[in-house]
Amino acid sequence: MTTTVNAYAAPAPKAPLERTTITRRTVREHDVLIEIAYAGICHSDIHQAREEWGQASFPMVPGHEIAGVVTEVGPGVTKYAVGDRVGIGCFVDSCRECENCLRGEEQYCLRGNIPTYNGEGFDGEKMYGGYSSHIVADENYVLRIPDGLSLDVAAPLLCAGITLYSPLARWNAGPGKKVAIVGVGGLGHMGLKIAHAMGAEVTALSQSLRKKDDALRLGADHYYATSDPATFEELAGTFDLIVSTISANYDVGAYLSLLKVGGTLVNVGAPDTPSSFHLFSLIGGRKSLAGSMIGGIQETQEMLDFCAEHGLGSEIEVIAPEQINEAYERVVASDVRYRFVIDVASLR
Ligand code: NAP
Ligand code: ZN
Ligand code: ZN
Repeated sequence: MTTTVNAYAAPAPKAPLERTTITRRTVREHDVLIEIAYAGICHSDIHQAREEWGQASFPMVPGHEIAGVVTEVGPGVTKYAVGDRVGIGCFVDSCRECENCLRGEEQYCLRGNIPTYNGEGFDGEKMYGGYSSHIVADENYVLRIPDGLSLDVAAPLLCAGITLYSPLARWNAGPGKKVAIVGVGGLGHMGLKIAHAMGAEVTALSQSLRKKDDALRLGADHYYATSDPATFEELAGTFDLIVSTISANYDVGAYLSLLKVGGTLVNVGAPDTPSSFHLFSLIGGRKSLAGSMIGGIQETQEMLDFCAEHGLGSEIEVIAPEQINEAYERVVASDVRYRFVIDVASLR
């Protein structure tokens, strides 16, 4: 049994998204039905809808920054009740028994996590994301949105928030640490806020000076334009930790040169082409290059609670579903301040 609901979908790779209907499964034993209020537009939605990461599944309903309200629960559900404010991030299931799942790092499930969209469930169900009026998901992959956060500014935390929180926490951003966030977009602006709240000295590195006032307001102590070659000379050897959110390919070696001895560059951006850099840029300073992908369920809840405690929502521009295609163009042009959030309730 399934229910038909309204959605916005890309019918084919690179095609504009259009209004359509999809089916959602009937609520099972441990499922909750969520009436979606808002869905953020992550750059990963665009990479996938345009098939930049390889073959994808169409029609595609993107959206993995989902915030809404529970309207029905299965008979076995214990964590949520009707009326609860909840969110869903980038995955909706995993094997639950591999070493990574057991450690609470379901995003790295050895069987592969089940993505919120652009994939299939273990039983072959085609997954559709948050650009839709409703979603059904297992309660164990649903997050609680704390009372202090409104649903619109909370939605982007489900991907952008956790993707920055996790490496900042793991690599100990905090008092006495010099942290740079590269790219002031959806992910990057949350990085500025979270690193600042953790107590680090925060530098924003952006292509131009256009976002300077915003970045300083959001939590940056310093701001530099990377289009100015003098920036790389001035900041050489400065940072304990750099988190790069750049969505395109970039000069990894140039950013490694900005690390102190023993520093780490964590890359979270996911460009579609391989990078190259000289290994000497790691050797000459015992530096590390790392990557990080979103976060586990427990850590995502921890991030939401941290953001509520520190009053950290996303800076958003709310749009109607009809504006999704235009918003995609603005994201690609680095012209988003700083996350588009779709008013999904208007699809009901
Ligand atoms: P976004 O809002 O478009 O932000 C990316 C920022 O990167 C832009 O605002 C821009 O910042 C900078 N940038 C873009 N093109 C650049 C270029 N050619 N050279 C230098 N800087 C450039 O995108 P997002 O939603 O934050 O996502 C960023 C990337 O992370 C995407 O590739 C996305 O797929 C990936 N992602 C990864 C994870 C993960 O788990 N690792 C999770 C979510 C997203 P300035 O204007 O400030 O220069
Ligand atoms: Zn995302
Ligand atoms: Zn697993």
